[in-house]
Amino acid sequence: MKKDTLLTHVARDPAKYQGMVNTPVYRTSTVIYPDLGSYEARGGDDYKKVRYGLYGTPTTFALEEAIAKMEGGHAAVVVPSGLAAIAAPLAAFLKTGDHLLVVDSVYGPTRTFCDRHLKPNGVEVEYYDPRIGAGIDKLLRTNTRAVFCESPGSLTFEMQDIPAIAAAARARGVPVLADTTWGTPYFFRPFEHGIDVSIHAGTKYINGHSDVLLGAIVTNERCWKTVRKTVAEYGYCVSPDDCYMALRGFRTIGVRMKHQMASALAIARWLQARPEVKRVIFPALEGDAGHALWKRDFEGAASLFSFIFNPVRPAAVTAFIDALELFGIGSSWGGFESLAIVARAEGQRTATKWDPGGPMIRLHIGLEDPDDLIADLERGFAKLKSVV
Ligand SMILES: *Cc1c(COP(=O)(O)O)cnc(C)c1O
Repeated sequence: MKKDTLLTHVARDPAKYQGMVNTPVYRTSTVIYPDLGSYEARGGDDYKKVRYGLYGTPTTFALEEAIAKMEGGHAAVVVPSGLAAIAAPLAAFLKTGDHLLVVDSVYGPTRTFCDRHLKPNGVEVEYYDPRIGAGIDKLLRTNTRAVFCESPGSLTFEMQDIPAIAAAARARGVPVLADTTWGTPYFFRPFEHGIDVSIHAGTKYINGHSDVLLGAIVTNERCWKTVRKTVAEYGYCVSPDDCYMALRGFRTIGVRMKHQMASALAIARWLQARPEVKRVIFPALEGDAGHALWKRDFEGAASLFSFIFNPVRPAAVTAFIDALELFGIGSSWGGFESLAIVARAEGQRTATKWDPGGPMIRLHIGLEDPDDLIADLERGFAKLKSVV
């Protein structure tokens, strides 16, 4: 089955639900059994059977199955946020005395979690250059218990050579965890590139409508029990209503991604030709430092990228953003609507230096007509000029 067909048919069973196209919302905490014998036989570590609301309902399982199958993983578990989907597997693999390698371009709150919750508990956290590739081998130690990747980074869009990193880690039996939110289960197949644990902020493109917070962790068979048990032991669970909403959104991720990618490329190319723009950072663009890796490993691009202004006064950058009428100013991305923020990545590095050489803007391109978005950016540039 091609992926658009799979996306339409995966994790649906109308015959089981009185002919309903979608798995309904099941709300419960308690599940009751016909007799004590069946109650006492309910458990084990099979997390695919209904036994208590905390461990999932048919609504939860439908979403988890859809995400896992789209990505080609063994199984998935959903958690209340993208950040929870990062924290749980890190906690699952690391204890006092262990060593963790984390990419220097990592999502800010991932770094905060490592620095404030792993380091004080005796985990040695070491940040590495996103361009390291096979060179990661030199950083692997006998006590290294995980390598954390994120490719591309969600502010600076530096690409990582995931297959090279994964090959080095695998040779030493070290699991590779990766934040694959940008790649999405639609455009990136993590398990074909050696990743063991794929982490998504389902808040972004999976739900796709800026109205649900969600995380998803997809693993291969080797890592499943460790990760799933840790999620259960932390007590993470997602409401069936949010699972229903997220699966409803996920059904259309294919059309959204293709449309948003095409618009993002058109807008990125238009920005490249602007005299005010020093550089556009978007791996899907020919000439981008990460283009070859993106082309080799990805089937498409998210509609999230950054661009750097030629040096201007901070007030001009503020005027540019404030002049935009269609782009919202706010955190997050992956919804149906466009967003713009000033991306401040300089202060977030410890292993490498990030010097963009001018103010950097991050754009999320939504489902609007790209011509209208370009006209909106033109309004921004006109305002910028009036301040310079
Ligand atoms: C937003 C984001 C997260 C966290 O997702 P939340 O649901 O907001 O907690 C994690 N990783 C990346 C790359 C993100 O952009």
